[in-house]
Amino acid sequence: MTEIPSQNPARKVALVTGSSRGLGRAMALKLAAEGFDLAVHYGRNAAEAQKVADEARAHGVRAEVFGADLTTPSNAGKLVEDVIKGLGRLDVLVNNAGITRDGLAIRMKDEDWDAVLQTNLSSAFSACRAAIKHMMRARSGRIVNIASVVGLTGNPGQANYVASKAGLIGLTKALAKEYGGRGITVNAVAPGFIESDMTATLAEGVQQGYLSDIPLARFGQPEEVAALVAFLASDGAGYITGQTIGVDGGLNPH
Ligand code: NAP
Repeated sequence: MTEIPSQNPARKVALVTGSSRGLGRAMALKLAAEGFDLAVHYGRNAAEAQKVADEARAHGVRAEVFGADLTTPSNAGKLVEDVIKGLGRLDVLVNNAGITRDGLAIRMKDEDWDAVLQTNLSSAFSACRAAIKHMMRARSGRIVNIASVVGLTGNPGQANYVASKAGLIGLTKALAKEYGGRGITVNAVAPGFIESDMTATLAEGVQQGYLSDIPLARFGQPEEVAALVAFLASDGAGYITGQTIGVDGGLNPH
């Protein structure tokens, strides 16, 4: 890893996993706009991540790129350690990287179950564990786990994805109770249907089916999820923990 210049110890550092594209990219840029130094993480798209870092720097913050394949959960813990080593501290961890491998449960291959659970849930746990050790010493920290509305409602054809997102919501609640006393908040965000590469692959008919169920009658934008993540990372959200907050156009009022 390259030497990272001039640390400003007063500026907080945020890591957003999977911030080379999609929702994660919007979250990273919003956090940079709010004045956080940034760790931009990618799995495969190093060049895209570099572009996000370049855009973030336009806000006058430090932004560095870190690659790690989160199909292997231990890489997530190592990623957090690398960020702390590189940027000097870690104040905000956003577990955003995620994948789908859809199919009916009776035909689902073990490898598709494992890949989704490892990437979406086990890697988030590994990252949380490493981050919390650091945040406990600082007696403060913010963790935001990007779940999904389907982790609350269920969805046919997504047993692996739904289980991973429901698991993230449970993990969020457990960690909020375990580390609230150390000044660490842990919350989950449950997006509905947001326009990104992940949803672009859905058939037109499937997209129209979702649309007819959304009270606000449109799909969401990555920036609309990023706004909530930035709020949860802000001082104003200091008394919010253990929550799962929807950004879904009213799809799942609860
Ligand atoms: P996306 O456009 O497919 O982007 C996924 C991001 O995760 C990319 O930055 C990708 O990095 C990274 N990633 C994927 N697999 C990885 C791996 N094995 N190792 C490291 N990084 C990996 O997805 P998105 O729509 O922005 O979704 C972001 C999060 O929001 C996910 O957790 C998703 O489940 C959740 N979500 C999305 C929606 C929606 O409607 N879009 C709804 C609910 C929840 P590289 O490209 O660099 O590999």
